[in-house]
Amino acid sequence: MNRRLLSAGLLLIVAVFSGLVSSGIGEDATGNSESAKNVILLIGDGMGFPQLTLARIEKSNENLSEYASVNLSMDGMEQTGYVSTYSANSFVTDSAPAATAMATGEKTNNGVLSEDKTAFPKKRDGNNLTTILELAEKDGLSTGLITTTRITHATPAAFYAHVDNRDNESEIASQLLRSGTDVILGGGMQYFVGRNHTDPAGKMGGRDDDRYLLADSVSLGYTLVFNGTGLQKIDAAKTDKLLGLFSSSHMQYELERNELERISSEDKQPGLASMPRKAIELLSRNPKGFFLMIEGGRIDHAGHERNLSRIASDTLAFDDAVKSALDFASKKNDTLVIVTADHECGGLVLQPENFTDYEGGLLDPIFASGTVRTAGPRYDFITEMDEATHTAVDVPIMASGPGAEKVSHGKIDNTRIFQIMKEALGL
Ligand SMILES: [Zn+2]
Repeated sequence: MNRRLLSAGLLLIVAVFSGLVSSGIGEDATGNSESAKNVILLIGDGMGFPQLTLARIEKSNENLSEYASVNLSMDGMEQTGYVSTYSANSFVTDSAPAATAMATGEKTNNGVLSEDKTAFPKKRDGNNLTTILELAEKDGLSTGLITTTRITHATPAAFYAHVDNRDNESEIASQLLRSGTDVILGGGMQYFVGRNHTDPAGKMGGRDDDRYLLADSVSLGYTLVFNGTGLQKIDAAKTDKLLGLFSSSHMQYELERNELERISSEDKQPGLASMPRKAIELLSRNPKGFFLMIEGGRIDHAGHERNLSRIASDTLAFDDAVKSALDFASKKNDTLVIVTADHECGGLVLQPENFTDYEGGLLDPIFASGTVRTAGPRYDFITEMDEATHTAVDVPIMASGPGAEKVSHGKIDNTRIFQIMKEALGL
């Protein structure tokens, strides 16, 4: 062995050894901490690799020469990998067990929120699993949840609720107020208003009882807001707990929100980029740090609907939320930012316009899920389902900040995301 090879070998041994030490104690030999003060987890619901490609094509105005230089904010993150998404009882997950896996590190059955796999929807309760949000609360960190769906919908709910059935949103809303979450922003006002009351948006309450949780939340110290202007006016320096409910059910798709903004400024809903900015301003006052989950929740709904323009614009709005998180995190090296998805939705196929030489543009992309092969020599396909379905394919993960390198160790499972966040926060 020549001297250069020998010293390279020694260096490698030293590097491997220090890597082992650093993963064991959370600090490397030079004292650089791998631990993070804050963790921001961003989940694009139904956002697989094809949805990201579609968003970039949209951002380039479907122009190939522009496309070459187009990047999403999440494309520039330090580490990239891919994640398996299966649930305890299915190759194809729904949002409930996928979010449970990220929130608790455990697989559970489809439809179940943060209970173990002895639970079956509407049949049997399981044992409660402890979530990353609960661990953070217990350790004195501040916590926040943001989504464009109802805040009682599966993805955010997995971080604070323990129910055998994701559709039990009245109970989920009650559990949210008991969770102590400091910043709550999204839709779903109806589950905070009893069935004989009218909600602040003028719609009848959707709870299965007569409780008025909006009053309870004021008693618990929450400041309430119901539109984008109200959210903007919040003085984050003087607000400790914030509950923003911007719609009776899900918030608008980004396309519709923009359209409404052009027509009228009244009652407008906040965008997915502005909600994280306000939340981070408030949460970052805690010297111990914070955990924040941000969901681009309606990319999935647009996928079920087979609606390309809504997928593209909601994915781009989600990417704006990623930018808000990265803008905060880039100021100092104490925040782990993770961007991922719970599952792909639609089986989106970006196929060429010209099938033989591939020149030209893209044929209108198609959604291959919910489609079955008919008997016959040419394997014709028919669309069997009204809505496109989720699929079993792996999803992307990107990360920046302390601990980010752990997401890029080949394929990781969605349960690993919990461990990575827990290790980073030292919980
Ligand atoms: Zn879905």
